[in-house]
Amino acid sequence: MIIAGTCHPPLSAERLAAELELMPDGTLTLRCGEHTGEWSADTLVLSAPLGRLPAQITFPDGWLFKAAENKILADWIQAHTGKQSQWLHKLERHWLAIVVSIVFLIALGAGTYRYGIPAASHTMARMLPKAVPEYIGKAVLETLDEYLFKPSQLDEQEQWQIRDRFALLQDNLPPLPFEPKIVFRSWQKGPNAFALSDGTIVVTDSLVELATTPAELDSVLLHEVGHVYHQHVMEAVVQSTLLSVSVALLTGESSGLADNLTGAGVFIASSGYSRDAEREADSFAAEQMIKQYGTTEPMAAMFSRFMEYDNGSEIPEWLQSHPDLYQRIEAVKAQDHSMLSE
Ligand SMILES: [Zn+2]
Repeated sequence: MIIAGTCHPPLSAERLAAELELMPDGTLTLRCGEHTGEWSADTLVLSAPLGRLPAQITFPDGWLFKAAENKILADWIQAHTGKQSQWLHKLERHWLAIVVSIVFLIALGAGTYRYGIPAASHTMARMLPKAVPEYIGKAVLETLDEYLFKPSQLDEQEQWQIRDRFALLQDNLPPLPFEPKIVFRSWQKGPNAFALSDGTIVVTDSLVELATTPAELDSVLLHEVGHVYHQHVMEAVVQSTLLSVSVALLTGESSGLADNLTGAGVFIASSGYSRDAEREADSFAAEQMIKQYGTTEPMAAMFSRFMEYDNGSEIPEWLQSHPDLYQRIEAVKAQDHSMLSE
């Protein structure tokens, strides 16, 4: 049986037409442009259809499929996954998911009722025990390491130079909810950096190579620290999980909650912040650049440098709000001027 739909490549917001072939033996094949992947049903992260929203499948290699036709896919999934027993077993193993559910349950009614979902996510992200973002951050990095990243090719000495310099910058930052920890990875898709929920900042080798001065690299690191400072990752994870958790609570089906959290974390790490979140991260970075370097010029230079870089590569996280890119450059410059003239 073949189901039409759309797919997203790993860590990408790009959307392609796709088809999913469902086999009676519980395996399925995703065909999406040049990409083909064959999987068995029990290796997948599945999000059940919510009302009219499409059913969504996250594959272990990071590809994502959204079905145009919910019913057939939902029935097939129902028939070929371990159903309740396996899900309950998973939930037992992931005790943190239970903690999360309880916190959500308490905050859900009050939070959503009083402030609406974005504001509730803001509050709830800060109510979670620290173990939750720590667990998710670790799980997300493990997933990315398994499927996307390769070990960094930078020599140890260069890595430590960057970390040491950043440690000095950090002494002058406002208190952060998590200690930023810089890790380096090689990634074929070019210059990028990602903040994870536990404060880990993943920096790709090509980002280090793209920067021509320490200040330029620091401007991107500070943007990521801005996401850590404002806890954007957990906010987004909470927000995207709110609906599925409330459905789980209502229907009594707590399927793969921990997997969903990790899946959401992986997706959000690269493509999921709102424009507001990007502006907040930029603003944090601009303020710190002025404080520590006396200028935001290196930030604007990094924006332009990326635009000159091989444009076949994807828009990286720190340029994620790219329709606003020129506005962002202008905003950064304006912030520079207004703060310098104060
Ligand atoms: Zn960002």
